[in-house]
Amino acid sequence: MRGFILNIRDAKGEDKIATLITSDKIKKYYRFFGARHAILKVGNLVEFRVEGEDGSYMPRLRELRLIEFPWILNNDKISIWQDLMQLFFTHLKDREDIATFYYDLILKSSEKWEKQNTKRVIVDSYIELLIEEKRVRDLNECYICQKPLNKLVSLMRGYRPAHIECINSPQIDKLKLENYFKIKKSLYLNDDEIDILYQTIMRGF
Ligand SMILES: [Zn+2]
Repeated sequence: MRGFILNIRDAKGEDKIATLITSDKIKKYYRFFGARHAILKVGNLVEFRVEGEDGSYMPRLRELRLIEFPWILNNDKISIWQDLMQLFFTHLKDREDIATFYYDLILKSSEKWEKQNTKRVIVDSYIELLIEEKRVRDLNECYICQKPLNKLVSLMRGYRPAHIECINSPQIDKLKLENYFKIKKSLYLNDDEIDILYQTIMRGF
């Protein structure tokens, strides 16, 4: 099997419990002496075998093998990648069966991670996620006061639109946002706008 490590927590002694996302599942696995395995790190893509899948204990990870990213030595890229994995973990951790969409989206992001600006990759991926989950909001009405919005809108978590007076966060041109929602790409957004969207996403999916 192949999966991304979304989270790792301590178990008994040097053992660890890792949460992995595979093409159709989010699952926790036990790893004996996990603390000694450098491969067991949030964000890594690994190949593995599972032992004890049908038993009454937590299934165990065996024969872990790292599938290396080309950007494995770039600390900045790794750090933002791990933040992104944390967001996916928080978003999906209470589910077990999931659509292949999520794994595919993470895989696609990892492939763009080396060459593209990582904030843009996140902004592009997030709109795909909102569309998949049917959570894209209409930008004409403020989420806080329910009054109409003008040409510029501020965004809350989940891209909920609001007046700057209602939430006091930076504004973006509404037409540009609508275009981004429509073409599912950040192509026409400048770096400042990307930064605003990135900060919004980092508050949580
Ligand atoms: Zn308002």
